[in-house]
Amino acid sequence: MKITFLGTGTSQGVPVIGCSCPTCVSTDPRNTRYRTHAHVEIGNLNIQVDAAPEFRIQALKHSIPKIDMVLLTHGHADHILGMDDLRRYCDMRDGEALPVYTNEEGKERMRSIYGYAIRGKPKEYGYPAFSLFRMPSRLDLPAGVIHSFNQRHGNFESLGFVFIERFTSKKLAYFTDCDSVKQKAIERAKGADLAVLDGLRFKAHKSHMSVEQAIEVADKIGAKKTYLIHMTHHVNHAIAETKLPGKVRFAYDNLVVDLC
Ligand SMILES: [Zn+2]
Ligand SMILES: [Zn+2]
Ligand SMILES: [Zn+2]
Repeated sequence: MKITFLGTGTSQGVPVIGCSCPTCVSTDPRNTRYRTHAHVEIGNLNIQVDAAPEFRIQALKHSIPKIDMVLLTHGHADHILGMDDLRRYCDMRDGEALPVYTNEEGKERMRSIYGYAIRGKPKEYGYPAFSLFRMPSRLDLPAGVIHSFNQRHGNFESLGFVFIERFTSKKLAYFTDCDSVKQKAIERAKGADLAVLDGLRFKAHKSHMSVEQAIEVADKIGAKKTYLIHMTHHVNHAIAETKLPGKVRFAYDNLVVDLC
């Protein structure tokens, strides 16, 4: 199993437009953050987790060869606004719609933003098509199992995922855009090879976990390694990392972690 971090930033990305703080003017590439989205390869499946506005740039950079399925954590703009660029992957499926698994609110947002593309086949070659599915709590695939969990995200709800690859038993937990992680999700994620957690900034926030909260969750999960994502410009990578325990690191755009 492999995860490519296509974006690790918050809703406005880093640098923030018009900001001249040390993070925003930094030349450290780890301080440039696209909006949070990731690409997961499990068995022979390519799974796109959210599609941020920069998806197209990153699909080209990482030569993403195909997409078999999309998992949409929730319908916030920073996670959904790159979806139209998935149209190319419909062509590659011989005009079959891309399955999108999400929660009810995610389906609703998909319908309101991409109503023209909710159909079994693209209208014409080159057009997008999505079929919407409610993400079950357990999705069994030949490549492995994906468990999903409802997460509180301020007044909103998002989905967290635990991927378990069938032939390697490698386990990946991906919990973004949440203000906490429920006990059930922690239990399922326990002993993961890699945990990926929302760690917005050091100061508390009503709809995201702070770095401190994320460290607490990381401790409960006890993954071999934990990466924090969805950081604001208040997190200056090199400086902020000195404040983390050894097994917890800040992810950065274009980081690739191969669990095999
Ligand atoms: Zn977000
Ligand atoms: Zn800034
Ligand atoms: Zn969100």
